[in-house]
Formats: sequence, C-alpha cells, structure tokens
Amino acid sequence: MTAPNAAPTLDDARETLRRVFGHNDFRGLQADVITEALAGRSAMAVLPTGGGKSLCYQIPSILRPGLGLVVSPLIALMTDQVAALQQSGVAAERLDSNITPEERRNTWQRIETGQLDMLYISPEGLMQDHMLERLSLERLALIAIDEAHCVSQWGHDFRPEYRMLGRLASIFPGVPRLAVTATADSRTREDIRNELHLEDSREFVDSFARPELVLTAERKIGKGHARVLELVAERPGKSGVIYAGSRDSTDVLADKLVAEGVPALAYHAGLDKAVRAQRLEKFLQADAAVMVATIAFGMGIDKPDVRFVIHADPPHSIEAYWQEIGRAGRDGALAEGITLYGSADMAWAYKRLDGRDVSDEVKQVQGRKVRQLYAMLDGTACRAAAVRRYFGEEGVARCGQCDICLGPPLATDTTEAAQKALSAAHRLGGRFGRGRLIDHLMGKTKEVSDYESGLSTYGIGKEFSQTGWRDVIDQLLFDGLLKEDPNDGRPLIGLGDVDEVKAVYRGERRVSVRKAPEKHDAVRAPKAAKRRREIVVALEDQALFEALRAWRREEAGRQHVPPYVIFGDATLAEIARDKPASDGALLKVNGIGEEKRARYGDDIRSIVRSMG
Ligand code: ADP
Ligand code: ZN
Repeated sequence: MTAPNAAPTLDDARETLRRVFGHNDFRGLQADVITEALAGRSAMAVLPTGGGKSLCYQIPSILRPGLGLVVSPLIALMTDQVAALQQSGVAAERLDSNITPEERRNTWQRIETGQLDMLYISPEGLMQDHMLERLSLERLALIAIDEAHCVSQWGHDFRPEYRMLGRLASIFPGVPRLAVTATADSRTREDIRNELHLEDSREFVDSFARPELVLTAERKIGKGHARVLELVAERPGKSGVIYAGSRDSTDVLADKLVAEGVPALAYHAGLDKAVRAQRLEKFLQADAAVMVATIAFGMGIDKPDVRFVIHADPPHSIEAYWQEIGRAGRDGALAEGITLYGSADMAWAYKRLDGRDVSDEVKQVQGRKVRQLYAMLDGTACRAAAVRRYFGEEGVARCGQCDICLGPPLATDTTEAAQKALSAAHRLGGRFGRGRLIDHLMGKTKEVSDYESGLSTYGIGKEFSQTGWRDVIDQLLFDGLLKEDPNDGRPLIGLGDVDEVKAVYRGERRVSVRKAPEKHDAVRAPKAAKRRREIVVALEDQALFEALRAWRREEAGRQHVPPYVIFGDATLAEIARDKPASDGALLKVNGIGEEKRARYGDDIRSIVRSMG
C-alpha cells in the first residue's frame, strides 16, 4: 500500500489494471506512458489502434487525486468509452449536447464533491469560458487529448476546434497533459507537440504494425460495385465497414447489398441525425452487419469485432488508410482490409486538392500524400511494410500475409504499346475518354469520322484485347505519362509530363505493366503472423459460446449499451473454453475485473453449469 500522499506507482497501476479491467499485464508502451502520467508529467503517445490507448489515461485518472478530463472529438466515441467504464465500476460521465440539464447538474454535483474520476468532453465544450472557469476551481488528475492528430493541418483529419486546446497549457499549468493518437507521421507529431506545448515532454511511438490485419488492394473495374458485392458475399455472417466516396454511392451500394440479402446500412452526413444515430446503434448492437459509409462514419467507432473494411473508393492518404482499415480487428483477431482503387480516383484526388482553399504549402504536402498513397496501392512492396515505413519505422520486415507478399505482381515490359497509346492520346488531343482511346487504338471507333480513321494511330493496337489496353492505359495514368481530367464524371485523357513522354518515345524510359497476380483467397494467411490473437472456439464449446453471446445480446438490450462493452468475443471464448466455476476462476479470465465479476458472475456460472 502507498502512503496517502505519495504518488501512485506502476505497481498500483498494475493492480488497478487487474482489479478494474481484468487484464493481467500492460501491453506495449502502456506502462511507460502511464509512468509519466503518474509522475505528473505530460507526454505524447502514438499507439496503434487496439493498442490500448485509453488505459494510458484511464488508469492515471483513477489513481491520481482529482478529476481526469478526456477531450474527444466525437459523441459516439465518448458514449462508448463512458459506458464501458461504468460497466467496470469506474465513476465516469460525459458532458455533450445529448445530455439533459438534469444529468448535467448531477454530473457537476459529483465533480464538486470529488466523486467523479473521469469526465469526457468535446474540445469546443471544454474551451467555453464558463466551463474553463468552473474547472479551474477543481483539482484535475490529468487532461487527455484523444485523437490528437486532429490538431494538425498536416494530418488527415484536421479539426480547427482542436487548435484551441493549445491554451490548456497555460490555463492548467500544473496538470499533466497526455496527447494520444493512432496515426501521425513525423511532421504531424511535430505539429502536435508544438500546438499543444509538449515540446519538453517525452514522446512514445509504438510500432504501427497490426499483424492481425490482412491487407489487399486491387485496381477496380468501372465503379467496382460488382466486386464489392462479390467480396461481401464471400464473407457471410461477418461485420464489416465499406467506405465509399460519395453519399450517393453509399446509398446505391447499400441498396444493392440489401437486395442480395446482406444486412447492410448506409451512413453519411446527408442523413437525418436521428436516422444516423439509429443506424449506428443498429450496427454496434449487431453480431453481424455491414455499414456502407462515407468517411463521416467511423472515427473512434469502437466496435471491436469488425472483420473487414472495404474501400470501394480509396482513402485520401496513407494515414487515412491506416486509420480507416484500422477499424477492423480491434479485438486483435484476424481481420481484412481490402482497397479498390483506380487511376480515375487518383485524378479526382488531385483535382479536389487543386480546388481547395488552402495555402500552396499545404497543397504541396497533401499532393505528396496522394502520390505516396497510390505508390503504395499500386506498388510492388509489402503493403504493411510500406505503411510502416511511411510512418518512419525502420528495419521493417515483410508481413508475409498481404496480397503482395503472397503473390508478387509480375512486371511485363510494354514500352512499345505505351508508345502507341501515348501517340494516339496525342493525336486525339485530349478530347476523349479512355473507352474511345481504346476503340481508336483497336480501330473499332463507332461511326468513325474520315479524319479520325485517317490518323496514323487509328487501328495500330490490334494486338491487345480491350482489357489489355485498359491495363496499359491505367499504368500510364499511374505513372503520370497520361493525365485524366475528371471533367465532372466524363473523364478526358491527355498527355502527362511532356519530358517523360518524350523519353518513352525515344525508348529511354521503359514502361512495364503490373500484371495482376493470380486470384488468391485473402484469408488464407500463412503462419507467419504469430502475434495475431485469433478467437478460436473448439467445436465442443460452440454451443456454450453461442449461449453466452445470446445472453450478452439480451443483457446489452436491457441496459441499452453495445454488447461489447459488457464482454468482448475473446472473453466469451475464454469462458466457453475454461468454464470457470468459482469467483477466482472468473477473475482469471482476461476482461473480467471485480465489478464485472460482481455484476455478471452468477449469470455466467449458471449458463456454464446448465450447458456443461
Ligand atoms: P485503442 O483506443 O488504442 O484503439 P483501446 O484502448 O480501445 O484501444 O483498447 C483496445 C482493446 O484492448 C480493448 O478491448 C481493451 O480492453 C484491450 N486492452 C487494452 N490494454 C490491454 C492489456 N494491457 N491487456 C489486455 N487487453 C488490453
Ligand atoms: Zn506483406
């Protein structure tokens, strides 16, 4: 036991980890970050999704005297975390626009009588004068700034209201501040440090590896919707998220999926708030559901059992990719990230950037991010390794399980075909789209004019099929030798970088197409990823596992919380395997702390008994 006034130690923290959260020991850099906070020092922590960022500030909030403040950008995120903490018996509340005046009064009363351990609040809510004044009167254990990358305009999710948080350093001078995020490249990290005045604080950056994620990416054909339907059909009974680039395509895709019998829901900012909230709840409550969403959905969505994330349209940067794909497999069990991308998407990305009202410097940085994203998607390097290198990790090994590791693309020299395509594009003068360019090369243009059929490039490309040409042209677009002007959905193809094009004409620059590797099943991953924690339920325990899940569903419905804040699948699987019959045995299960044992122990034991 510590003396009443001594600072809590890491041993105290470990005891809290076991008693309250039911976990045996710290993971990764958790212990280091917690040590800083317990000593009253500020810090910055970049830990991968599922790496247990929240415990880094939750445990010090519980142990240090005073209230732990958590700044979080989204209500859904706060709701989830607060519900989970309450399940574990932690005195946590949130103040946001959904809270009634009465609840608000109640919460303040608990703050002022020192009964509350943690308070979750939005940045704009916190930075109001009256809020700051009131909180200045209270003793604060720490201030955690979740999703801290939102402070940086170099990051992928800049939120202007996060900028105000820089003032916290002077308003609460003695209070340790903890900035945490899952994705930040070195430039973003620097920005976080400067903006939040953490220049002198320690920085903890864990590996970005997510060995439980199996990554694949493929060039899309057309809009790619047919392929999305196929991918979902191959993964029945699983929860997934599909990201699409526009509101319209989320609606269209969701309808198509529903027509195929998939429990799919569309989610985007154009929907009524109540409809959105209802669909989100439905998704979180379901054992298996597919959310088709724009990126308005997802930041901080904690559903741990998302088994796949499909990008029907590619993300905006590698950071966004990692964050969005990262929403799969939070429970540590095997999950997939599948990205469909096309050269037209790349053209759009540049065009969008061009039209943005930001400084040239920001445009340049964002433009580089677009290039790096497509270099990774269309490249030939292990995808997981490419992402980790992007974040500045060194000496990264191949993952051994992504599509590139399993079937490296074969490069075929197509310089001669490239020369033909480039001259044809030149002759056609950038007035036509890809289909017409191919018809021209193949000499198949419908109702061809005398002018066009008289061009020297008409019909010079009969050696390839339409698909063959499509691949060549895609490659030229990705290489920047051809350029596509989105032209409001009717893209036109013209020549790209003139010097480079000339180099191809002269044969000084070779062009090779990336032949898609043979089809393979993404789930068939080799044993390489040992650190992956797979949820395995033995055949003879299946019935018990399902009974536990049914009980959890009912319990969650009764309490109006998502099932996973009661217990995760991994915890139920462990119960089904070990069949704990005593309190001691229950507490040994990962994810069962004292509060949950007290709440649910009897129920669990009686289910185990009745099925045993
Ligand atoms: P993040 O916010 O970093 O994505 P969370 O804080 O939500 O991650 O934690 C992810 C999951 O890992 C949660 O289910 C949590 O209970 C679990 N977890 C966190 N720390 C530990 C630990 N030390 N041992 C076992 N499980 C842990
Ligand atoms: Zn790989």
